[in-house]
Amino acid sequence: RLEIRNLTRSFAGRAVVDDVSLTVAAGQVTCLLGPSGCGKSTTLRMIAGVETPDSGQIVIDGAPVFANGLALPPERRGVGLMFQDFALFPHLTVADNIAFGLTAAREAKARRVDELLERVNLTGFGPKHPHQLSGGEQQRVALARALAPRPRVMLMDEPFSGLDNRLRDGIRDATLEVLKDEGAAVLLVTHEPDEAMRMADEIALMRAGRVVQQGAPYNIYNNPVDRAAAAFFSDIN
Ligand code: ATP
Ligand code: MG
Repeated sequence: RLEIRNLTRSFAGRAVVDDVSLTVAAGQVTCLLGPSGCGKSTTLRMIAGVETPDSGQIVIDGAPVFANGLALPPERRGVGLMFQDFALFPHLTVADNIAFGLTAAREAKARRVDELLERVNLTGFGPKHPHQLSGGEQQRVALARALAPRPRVMLMDEPFSGLDNRLRDGIRDATLEVLKDEGAAVLLVTHEPDEAMRMADEIALMRAGRVVQQGAPYNIYNNPVDRAAAAFFSDIN
């Protein structure tokens, strides 16, 4: 479970994230939607711990990771990341890419790697190198790598852009299934209305640093807060 409360961050006197509060339950997906520059990635970066909020709180599974004077480093937050430029380490095998952040003993690592390869439908791919894989296969390896340490929160910033349509649907569905099974709270940034409708349990609309509407996809679809929100959903079939 991810809770962010009153998160604020300014650059050069301008609040790019302005008093944002959100909760994502374990096993649920919240899609963060909004125009370019409205503060989506900055919000994710603060949760990940690579950007420092000016104020507010971030709580994961009931434990503060950022709050008055406390700021856990990224590796201690239990947060997994999957971004558009999800580059794998080219000189490492698929298995070593997935095991990269794991601190477990060798056998336990190998077991986790095999389990994840099976989950993302890449059984037997462990000894290969990234250049021997298609884009979609590489993306599934990136997903397995992000899941390896069993993150409680998964942050995804347009992870499926750059894939062709045919591949994207399959990978989206597989990703969703794995994330739900692992019980992570997922915050997903997307520009694609149909991706949001397909993947989200909740949608949060951002404008200029603020969350202006939040709720179940069909509620927002049926009752958009403004013209821009209505236009966003208008080309869904
Ligand atoms: P996009 O959809 O284009 O990815 P976004 O919603 O993810 O947009 P952010 O990357 O969060 O937007 O940026 C929000 C605003 O904050 C932008 O105007 C951006 O230029 C500004 N910004 C982000 N990081 C910094 C920084 N380190 N220094 C100064 N300004 C920044
Ligand atoms: Mg962004």
